[in-house]
Amino acid sequence: MKIYSTLSGKKEEFRPQGDEVKIYVCGVTPYSDAHIGHAMSYVVFDVIRRYLRFRDYKVKYVQNVTDIDDKIIDRANKLGIPPGELAEKYTKSYFDDMEDLNIEPADVYPRATGEIDKIIEVVGGLIDKGYAYPAGGSVYFRVRSDPDYGKLSHRSLEAMRAAECAIGSQEKEDAMDFVLWKAAKPGEPSWESPWGRGRPGWHIECSAMSLKYLGDTLDIHGGGQDLIFPHHENEIAQSESFTGVKPFVKYWLHNGLVQLAGDKMSKSLGNLITIKEALKNYSADALRIFILNSHYRSPLTYSEEGLEAAKSAEERLLRVVSRDDPVGGKGEALDAESYRQQFIEAMDDDFNTAKALGVLFELTSAINQAADAGVGIKKAQNTLVSLAREVLGLKLPRIIYGKASLKGLGTLTARGTVIGAQPTSETEERVNRIVEERLKCRQEKKWQRADEIREKLTELGVVLEDTKTGTDFTYKSVPSEESLDKLIAGLGL
Ligand SMILES: [Zn+2]
Repeated sequence: MKIYSTLSGKKEEFRPQGDEVKIYVCGVTPYSDAHIGHAMSYVVFDVIRRYLRFRDYKVKYVQNVTDIDDKIIDRANKLGIPPGELAEKYTKSYFDDMEDLNIEPADVYPRATGEIDKIIEVVGGLIDKGYAYPAGGSVYFRVRSDPDYGKLSHRSLEAMRAAECAIGSQEKEDAMDFVLWKAAKPGEPSWESPWGRGRPGWHIECSAMSLKYLGDTLDIHGGGQDLIFPHHENEIAQSESFTGVKPFVKYWLHNGLVQLAGDKMSKSLGNLITIKEALKNYSADALRIFILNSHYRSPLTYSEEGLEAAKSAEERLLRVVSRDDPVGGKGEALDAESYRQQFIEAMDDDFNTAKALGVLFELTSAINQAADAGVGIKKAQNTLVSLAREVLGLKLPRIIYGKASLKGLGTLTARGTVIGAQPTSETEERVNRIVEERLKCRQEKKWQRADEIREKLTELGVVLEDTKTGTDFTYKSVPSEESLDKLIAGLGL
């Protein structure tokens, strides 16, 4: 497996340091709803984590929450609420978005405000070793003390000074020195420290938390390309200076940024699309296909056309997954092993998800051709579903098209969705009969009986949602045939 590292600027053979791959990804600063740029970054690292597990690595994934920051304090002040309340609200909103996008939760989500002790320990250690100095109640990192400073962003200190127009202050020894601990300002949250009350700077948080939860050396550190400088450059300086262990990170992975009409999506440009807005029009699967269809290191241009194309692609997958096997799982069948191998080859090459998705669509065509020709497709469908779900994190529900549609009862139809567990055809037949009966009740305005059937089915794990044209139902779990028979008997069907 080869992985591109920003530090070396090339693809390297992936050799983790131990049995468990240690991944740290920079998390959000919760002061407003997460946007599509966050969706890209966290979908990308979710797929990388899933793929490593698919390749039999154990993985530990840590992602921080920067729940104290200038942006949080500013917004909370404008709204007239405590900063902690604002951070809590948007942390929860972020977790909801991640769940909706089918992103697996991190193993640990440390929050800055919960890790003050560790942060103070690291800042104190840096002072003791001469890499940092207190001034005016704050503490700064002394960039001149670190000869490696600039190795990730491939820039010299002189070039940075010229390019960044760094703002000097009387407190700082060098304009490029960055803050580790900020002296408290009136009305802001602050904590006791050896240098007086204050709060942590952003960069030191990630060094302290990765050290605490993953140790001196991480296998993979991820984040958006906009974090390379100064954030990740500063993380390296802090961590390697504090521990004396190099490297702090074996592979630095940076995802490309989302652009809208040619601009980077950013709050200052006011062109943000939140994850919640995007999910109003497109499913999580369509969004994931849209993101994974370009290389993770390339910029991604958000466009309606691109998302519509992803939606069509999603429908192609849904249809092929839902097709009946012409030979009922027996006899001559399509062999999907070569597709599986090509998928792995693509992912082994620096997580080329665009190519891997391409392989799944070739497999989709092959399955359709086989089914049309009367050749078995069950095994190939299973290969497709397991790669799409396990590695790419698609939900890919199986839609039972039209099986419960009603003849001679007007326009009402039922459409079933199966996520995860697969009901047998006997179970499906029973559920369809009950759903049909309920549609009949609605048609005949027998509301009480319709409600009763819905409640009973919900108890058994089949959730009904009425639409203008009928009823959609989803198997949250698969009911037993016995429980369905009991219900059918109770309804007198
Ligand atoms: Zn970070």
